[in-house]
Amino acid sequence: SSDRPWFKYWPPHLPKTLDYPEVPLFNIVEVSSQRYPNKNAIIYYGNKITYRELWENVLRFSAFLHNELGVRKGDRVAIFMPNSVQWVIAYYGILRANAILVPINPLIAEDELNYILKDSGAVGVITLSLYLNKVIKARENTQVKWVIAGRFKDYLPQQPEIKIHPLVQKEPEIDVKDVILWRDSLRNNYSPPQVEVKAEDIAVIPYTSGTTGFPKGCIHTHSTIWPTILGSVVWNMVTPSAVVLSSLPVFHVTGFVHSLNAPLYIGATMVLLSVWDREAAVDAIEKYRITHWTNISTMVVDLLALPGIEKRNLSSLILIGGGGAAMPEAVAKRLKELTGLDYIEGYGLTETMSQTHVNPPNRPKLQCLGIPHFGVDALVIDPVTGEVLPPNKEGEIVVKCPSLFKGYWNKDEETRKSFITINGIEYFRTGDLGYMDEEGYFFIVDRIKRMINRAGYKVWPTKVENKLYQHPAVLEACVVASPDPRVGEEVKAYIVLKPEYKGKVTADEIREWCKQHMSAYEYPRIIEFVDSLPKSGSGKILWRVLQEKEKGIK
Ligand code: AMP
Repeated sequence: SSDRPWFKYWPPHLPKTLDYPEVPLFNIVEVSSQRYPNKNAIIYYGNKITYRELWENVLRFSAFLHNELGVRKGDRVAIFMPNSVQWVIAYYGILRANAILVPINPLIAEDELNYILKDSGAVGVITLSLYLNKVIKARENTQVKWVIAGRFKDYLPQQPEIKIHPLVQKEPEIDVKDVILWRDSLRNNYSPPQVEVKAEDIAVIPYTSGTTGFPKGCIHTHSTIWPTILGSVVWNMVTPSAVVLSSLPVFHVTGFVHSLNAPLYIGATMVLLSVWDREAAVDAIEKYRITHWTNISTMVVDLLALPGIEKRNLSSLILIGGGGAAMPEAVAKRLKELTGLDYIEGYGLTETMSQTHVNPPNRPKLQCLGIPHFGVDALVIDPVTGEVLPPNKEGEIVVKCPSLFKGYWNKDEETRKSFITINGIEYFRTGDLGYMDEEGYFFIVDRIKRMINRAGYKVWPTKVENKLYQHPAVLEACVVASPDPRVGEEVKAYIVLKPEYKGKVTADEIREWCKQHMSAYEYPRIIEFVDSLPKSGSGKILWRVLQEKEKGIK
């Protein structure tokens, strides 16, 4: 409603609401290819791909999916790889074939990949050679019928203009039978699929991990994705002459909206990095005169720590912002000293397709989520009674927004539990604890959901604990967040060993085991053996006690 306090601080040059296109998302590239056929859509380590070429390849790929692989409306197709040119082509191609994209983080462990492939019922996977072994193992007992695999090298230029990450250079040849090579999926002769795609069709199902340890797919239609794309372009003033540094992973909603769809929609140029690398990022900023950079705060922390950063030319930047994890005040101040720019922090979730809150560029606050975005209403409620709380009182943040998902894939009970009706209106429960100040700016103080935010990658302690209990030496385990200057929160496990293993197994051995059995970002890097864990009268492990101790002692 219009009486909300934040409207007073709304950027004066911006409308309060936006109208959203009622067309499919691949329209983004189709229209930009008509407007700016010869303009660079993507610069990939120096390889320049025009809008015309991009759209041409999207059509070819969608024709291959439809005509050769029999992909039809509603089929789920997974992309399992880091940022790459293939990712962009495959994504729009999947939608153009009226199929549904399931974007998956390539760092997840094999059993989690297997779970997501099964849960989503994906019919195919698009990947790169580096990740092929994982896919081959994880497709067992799923409905996956085909795998397409490419290589970073398919699009890397002969003479790279910026530093290429060693990981990219180490990629193996594809020697697995029964795999379609990426280049074979782009035929010269093709007829684009004759399908009718509607804005209300399901477009993307990104997975988020859940408290129960099982990832949940968030159903997004073309219509629930447009609002944050358009909102990003308007709020951040992304113009066709913008040059955007796309260093966030596009499989996650923040990168997907701000680093991929927003620049291509407006006809800007995206400078795509496959792996985060601060030297490549600074090279790119200087070489391509980057104007806009949406990131996760840990990337800024890393960049500012680059020796000699004061001497580099960052003067082209006009907007730096991000979300997904808190931006420490000291880092934002240092950034301002160096670039003269305020860090424009935002907040959102996979369920809301990125931002529900963003700071007004003309009046940002530090370590603040910002004000509710276009068409968003947000409240702070008592998580137990559901009562709406006044300003400055801490409670659960709930939101109602045009970008809200349609529910969890095949999980009606979880969907139902994530909503609450207030004054006859349904709000989504974020599980985040925060408050709103008198001016309508929101702040996060803690989480109701038990989650660790490691450099923006969400780690669910229950899941890590469940894995730990499979180790023969572990009697009890409790996983908490340990404050860390580099990644924000590091994953730490308190472990009680079975008596017969005491003195026989080391923390290093357990850590190594975890590394083998868990996703790269989630395994506990810190292991501490203790004699016992704090418990409640009913025997429940009091993880909050350990969590608070962990935050206190640092
Ligand atoms: P995801 O679904 O992976 O995008 O994770 C969403 C969660 O990230 C939120 O529920 C918050 O806990 C956290 N988050 C997002 N933005 C911020 C921010 N600006 N500051 C602190 N935490 C954030």
